[in-house]
Amino acid sequence: MSLFEYLCDSCGSMFDVELETAETDAPVECPLCHSHDTQVIPTLSSVYGYSHSATSGCGGEDSEFR
Ligand SMILES: [Zn+2]
Repeated sequence: MSLFEYLCDSCGSMFDVELETAETDAPVECPLCHSHDTQVIPTLSSVYGYSHSATSGCGGEDSEFR
């Protein structure tokens, strides 16, 4: 599991959702207005920051720092 930041296009609020990485293209309901008009905000920390501590062998993204 990793934490994703979402932006609601309906009410403009931002919220965090814990998801498997494979689920990020599924619609997420806004906790405030219950709209599904939401989009994930790609943050580098959630993409690259978790891999060496949180996940253990799920998914294909390994920690590959350059
Ligand atoms: Zn909303």
